[in-house]
Amino acid sequence: LVAHLRTAGLLKTQGLIGGKWTDAYDGKTIQVRNPATGEVIADVPCMGGKETNDAISSAHDAFQSWSKVTATERSKCLRTWYDLLISHKEELGQLITLEQGKPLKEAIGEVTYGASFIEFFAEEARRIYGDIIPATLGDRRLLVLKQPVGVVGAITPWNFPLAMITRKVGPALASGCTVVIKPSEMTPLTALAAVELARQAGIPPGVLNVVMGNAPDIGDALLGSSQVRKITFTGSTAVGKKLMAGSAGTVKRVSLELGGNAPCIIFDDADLDVAVKGSLGAKFRNSGQTCVCANRIIVQEGIYDKFAEAFSKAVQNLQVGNGFSEGVVQGPLINEAAVQKVEKFVQDAISKGAKVLLGGKRHSLGMTFYEPTVISDVNNEMILSREEIFGPVAPLLRFKTEEDAIRIANDTNAGLAAYIFTNNIQRSWRVTEALEYGLVGVNEGLISTEVAPFGGVKQSGLGREGSKYGMDDFLELKYVCLGDM
Ligand code: ADP
Repeated sequence: LVAHLRTAGLLKTQGLIGGKWTDAYDGKTIQVRNPATGEVIADVPCMGGKETNDAISSAHDAFQSWSKVTATERSKCLRTWYDLLISHKEELGQLITLEQGKPLKEAIGEVTYGASFIEFFAEEARRIYGDIIPATLGDRRLLVLKQPVGVVGAITPWNFPLAMITRKVGPALASGCTVVIKPSEMTPLTALAAVELARQAGIPPGVLNVVMGNAPDIGDALLGSSQVRKITFTGSTAVGKKLMAGSAGTVKRVSLELGGNAPCIIFDDADLDVAVKGSLGAKFRNSGQTCVCANRIIVQEGIYDKFAEAFSKAVQNLQVGNGFSEGVVQGPLINEAAVQKVEKFVQDAISKGAKVLLGGKRHSLGMTFYEPTVISDVNNEMILSREEIFGPVAPLLRFKTEEDAIRIANDTNAGLAAYIFTNNIQRSWRVTEALEYGLVGVNEGLISTEVAPFGGVKQSGLGREGSKYGMDDFLELKYVCLGDM
């Protein structure tokens, strides 16, 4: 498979600076491993501040011309890139499964989803309209122009090796910005293949650069540069806070997609099948490793037992294994630390009185495979419901009234996604309005799409990605006053 990807020209193992494939200046490398087998897939450069500064200079030079290219041209480049991503979706999906572990079908789904941002923003590139404002004085004309913010530093995580990049780079390029991408060191190969396709699509040298290696050094170079006008980040809340603080020195714009603690509320009046299917999708997608995964399944007392039984049955059917094996829907966790974290959370819950209905331990496959798990009698004091689990563990909490459900759901510093299941239309509206979250799924567990705004409130982040609103984060408004008219 690796040989096949290499032949296809999609196994790139160097950074990209100013259009040139580049090694670390001191020749250092880091290994990229397959989480399902532990095997080394490739060595990639371990870069730091020097390479990052050069990537920033390249992006800054390229900005001078890319920001002046017509919207039609930028749109065409993005559309060609989209076509290339789609025509290589099998290979890109294989790369994702290789380095990230998710089942191949889900990985190819990520390619389609990831590419959709490039398609969508290829279209949005042509709709960056300004405004004309009625003037307060007769001899004046007031206008608003929208201009690209400049060089963008984009730092992305391992759980969606492609989509987290395209969701940032799509609107950045559409608006005329240039980008230095720092993918996760655990999943850089997908990012490199994607920018190779961008290169083939005619996106000019320096518009997209990729560095990877020593994350804090790369981060410091991006933060310290006054040429970098914006940081866009998806990852942990802790790192997001550091980047926000570090952006203060040069007053950068900041967009953050941070951790969630999604409640999934099942009311007595929900359709049981819809609730089981929806919460299963919301919980177990990517083996629970997404920031919008249901972290707490909060179930009303009248339906609790029925739901717990039906949900556990559905979870029992989830096949665990190597993402390349037919029928597998749950891959490995990303690494040993992720499994240890899940084990710690589960132990804490058990020691405080929770009951394991299913799973609750490592899978017999070994490595970083963990059994899909359901735990009942969880309360909001357990770590399971305080922190993001990022693993295949579904905690069930019990509630009595609608007010209780809302209080439990909002009792967290996170505010990304929430899900509710009910057949009462008034309740669905009331609860949706009361939830302190950026996204709400009503009777649906999989809600992300390129056409809708994705983002959190409270400590889950700043800004929105995707949709027409996703352009705003990459555009500055310039007010122009024409006098003596
Ligand atoms: P996760 O738990 O999802 O790995 P992280 O926040 O640790 O979340 O990682 C998300 C991205 O942030 C990765 O690309 C990682 O390398 C990067 N990162 C981690 N620490 C820093 C830092 N100090 N400066 C810049 N980037 C960082």
